[in-house]
Amino acid sequence: MKKRIKVIDFIINPAAGTGGSVLPVINSSMKEAGIRWEASITHEAGDAIKFAKAAAKERADVLGVYGGDGTLMEAISGLMGSEIPLAILPGGSANVMAEELGIPKDLKAACALMSQIPLTTRTIDVGQFGDRYFILGIALGFGAEVIKGADRETKNRIGIFAYFLSAAAALRKTKKAVYHLMIDGQKHEVQGLTCIIANVGNLGFSNISYDKHIDVSDGLLDVVVVRRANLSLFKLMAVTLLKRERPDNMELVQHWQGRDISVSSTPRQTAECDGEVLEEVPLHIKIIPGAIKVLVPAKEG
Ligand SMILES: [Mg+2]
Repeated sequence: MKKRIKVIDFIINPAAGTGGSVLPVINSSMKEAGIRWEASITHEAGDAIKFAKAAAKERADVLGVYGGDGTLMEAISGLMGSEIPLAILPGGSANVMAEELGIPKDLKAACALMSQIPLTTRTIDVGQFGDRYFILGIALGFGAEVIKGADRETKNRIGIFAYFLSAAAALRKTKKAVYHLMIDGQKHEVQGLTCIIANVGNLGFSNISYDKHIDVSDGLLDVVVVRRANLSLFKLMAVTLLKRERPDNMELVQHWQGRDISVSSTPRQTAECDGEVLEEVPLHIKIIPGAIKVLVPAKEG
């Protein structure tokens, strides 16, 4: 992006964050940068979609979003088809996308990306099924039970470890299923505990093999089936979640990549999308390559 930013519309989720003051930080950062700004406050689900659509119509230079992955997913849904870049101010209990893109957790540092010279943007893929968009991924079975089991209060308190606690409980509950997959016209039937269709890599299966990393900008969705649960699965989760390293035991997972994916399971399992429990399965999922531009830190060196 060559031109300087003059006007930013912000969407602010007041339920996000840990109670620190957001507006004074935004205000002083924008003042320093000489950027005019307006803010809309979300009150209920769907508000961020509406505000983002309005920002797209008014042709704001940038849409800023303060919140977690849920608010971000809504803002992106509202921006689809527009050229307006997004500035992410991570404020939620889960900020997986911000983390994936290397956006600073510190609010002031995240605001500084809007006055970087030159501005650096990265184009990211967005997933779609029906009329719904997603940014992180979809999980069936164990992976969905984990999300379902990690309640907001625990997540706020202990963050990522809420998922480990939930994982232990989910493991007792989840029975194996057969996944019926159609990936770019190729049929696969595999048995497993969970099937994950991932847009971003830091969901716990970062470096899935030596040559095929989960990449949010490669125009592909990654399909991962975890076949059994034992201590190695927990090791795999711990290693990939905490250290971001490639796990050494790969017999546990099967992995494909594709652009057009249909998935169902026998028996039917719990499903989630971007952290929300889903009702409708089977799913027909597509990827929209390079759908959204996001302000990111300039690469060093
Ligand atoms: Mg990808």
